[in-house]
Amino acid sequence: MIDYQNVIDTIHSNLKDEVNRGLVASYIPELANIDVQNFGIHLRLINGETFATGDWNKKLSIQSISKVLTLAMALPMYPKNLWQRVDVEPSGNPFNHLSLLELENGIPRNPLINAGALVIADILVTLLENPKEDFLNYVRSVVDDPTIAFNEDVANSERMTGYNNYAAANLLKAYGNLRNDVDDVLDFYFHQCAIEMTCEQLSKAFFMFANHGSCCLQKRHLSESQAKRINAIMLTCGFYDEAGEFAFEVGLPGKSGVGGGIVALLPNHYTISVWSPGLNMQGNSLLGMRALEQFTSMTRLSIF
Ligand code: GLU
Repeated sequence: MIDYQNVIDTIHSNLKDEVNRGLVASYIPELANIDVQNFGIHLRLINGETFATGDWNKKLSIQSISKVLTLAMALPMYPKNLWQRVDVEPSGNPFNHLSLLELENGIPRNPLINAGALVIADILVTLLENPKEDFLNYVRSVVDDPTIAFNEDVANSERMTGYNNYAAANLLKAYGNLRNDVDDVLDFYFHQCAIEMTCEQLSKAFFMFANHGSCCLQKRHLSESQAKRINAIMLTCGFYDEAGEFAFEVGLPGKSGVGGGIVALLPNHYTISVWSPGLNMQGNSLLGMRALEQFTSMTRLSIF
């Protein structure tokens, strides 16, 4: 029997005084104010047992982690055509890189880079009656928590400095891969990124990927095959151009965001969320990656 509380407490005390914590993302001004000392871990086992340590109950900006949730909402609604509008290959480039988009005629490399997430956002803006509200309600239902909300200050802050995202959306529009107005799609996208959750809520949100498509209430949101495919995309594309390093060091499907959150999971076993806002050069939480490396080494519970 693994003493999970002891494992995560040990990891927390190994890392909590680390001086080299990386840099908080500053290109979204609102995120620059977050205290780099925050550090929390939350683990949810497939049987519903939970373990937590540190700042697991503070809200963080989920940022790109939202891209997995928009994909999970869009895929069952648009199962056939989605993969014609976005590919499933790792990009080997930073999340906001644009050159491949031009080379590949407006078909983004995968749904977890910004251009791909913008196509998924466009699909949801088309299919949902009240896109922002409906997506938020989807997230609330998956987590079983009606308190989850957008942080409007973060969404506005991102709009003010979102030149790269405006460029990507305009390129997609020029290639005919955006059906709605650029501004409507970006408004949706900035809001999805500005959702706030605690580590506990993130572990719950990703439970469906560990549980073959059913959320923590055992309600089915994805088919088994859809959950499997999203896990494959997280493994190969979930960590910017460091997905190989994450697979090598940690060995789990997962997704990070520039708010410093990482959620990862082992199908049939657990979901784990880590938050430490300092990022490494590739944009992944520096302590978050180290914490997860220690977790899969200590428990020997990775996909490999
Ligand atoms: N909202 C951020 C952006 O589009 C998300 C970046 C991220 O977390 O990777 O720039």
